Amino acid sequence: MTGGRPACLGCGAPLTRTLVDLGCTPLANSFVPSDRPEPDPVYPLHARVCDRCLLVQVEAVVPPADIFSDYAYFSSYSDTWLEHCRGYVEMAIARFALTGASKVVELASNDGYLLQNFVATAIPCLGVEPAANVAQAAQARGVPTEIAFFGSETARRLTAAGHRADLIVANNVLAHVPDINDFVAGVALLLKPEGVFTVEFPHLLNLIRGVQFDTIYHEHFTYLSLIAIERIFRRHGLRIFDTEELATHGGSLRALVCKEESQQAEWPGVARIRSNETSARLDGPEGYACFAERVEAVRQELVAFLASASAAGRSVAAYGAAAKGNTLLNYCRVGSDRISFVADRSPAKQGRLLPGSRIPVRGPDAIFAEKPDYVLILPWNLRDEISGQLAAIRGWGGKFVTAIPEIEVS
Ligand SMILES: [Zn+2]
Repeated sequence: MTGGRPACLGCGAPLTRTLVDLGCTPLANSFVPSDRPEPDPVYPLHARVCDRCLLVQVEAVVPPADIFSDYAYFSSYSDTWLEHCRGYVEMAIARFALTGASKVVELASNDGYLLQNFVATAIPCLGVEPAANVAQAAQARGVPTEIAFFGSETARRLTAAGHRADLIVANNVLAHVPDINDFVAGVALLLKPEGVFTVEFPHLLNLIRGVQFDTIYHEHFTYLSLIAIERIFRRHGLRIFDTEELATHGGSLRALVCKEESQQAEWPGVARIRSNETSARLDGPEGYACFAERVEAVRQELVAFLASASAAGRSVAAYGAAAKGNTLLNYCRVGSDRISFVADRSPAKQGRLLPGSRIPVRGPDAIFAEKPDYVLILPWNLRDEISGQLAAIRGWGGKFVTAIPEIEVS
């Protein structure tokens, strides 16, 4: 899509309205070896909203191979997340009356950490996972897994092989799908007439309300509201019959979806979320107008805070080398002159540099060795958990800082 206006990933209309233009930034997940010469490759990161269907999206300007070649985070799930998955499986078995005669399919099933709960209860399941090494880890733990990208072509192949689903699960995968229509078309093909599709995604309403612009990065093509996703589902003969709000990823939505002609009645949760989005004016293009100004205000506040800390001779370190931190630091043009290092528990990131800002990544011990006056928590959604783990910084008068939706020091 070079030259001219990009077209909407949902409806094909030309995109003319900016949600926020974050400039040219490196890929948020590509940590840099410390000896690699500058500069890091950058790509435009420009979020737009479609005037016709209200889908918020980032133009795919990076070759997929550049994004996914580095994607190997499969064994690092937190206990909280695994508990979330167990709870989901219990709910699904009870609510959808799943038995040994049912079939569950998970899209982007990773190493089988969710489906293993179905295997344990002898409910037949199948994972679909594009990364071969990750899929093999799932197979090794007894979770049948098909190595494929999911879309209408894979769905056709699976149905021809006799797979039809009573339940299809897609958690935190829709945003990563470059062709959302083809993905949803595949779901419609694979679903039995009374089957249920459950999908979890970070809720655009929270992104807008909480100025969570740091969750925008090249690997996330779409940012979903109920209003926008309902239009896409409808185009493929699907409808949402219930929703649940979840605390994950700064506030997610779980949508329960069935075929248009299914017997499922619509639950009140759907109307409630629609009305929340309407109150926030997400039902018309004008509602998205002032987001960029609020993002700019976050930048100014963070830059001013770091400048005044520096002027007062205070040291600042960061914690959590998450992708969202890279969007924040690069958009705010904060470098190692302001933040001396970022601490992270992942050994794979330690010894590397954050892309763009070139801030070195060290182990959590560095916090206790260097005793910074301020620790900027980049994954703000984990503020409580992280400030608990690092409570000892109070011993030298250290304080925790988060920058989104506004500077908070405590
Ligand atoms: Zn559109």
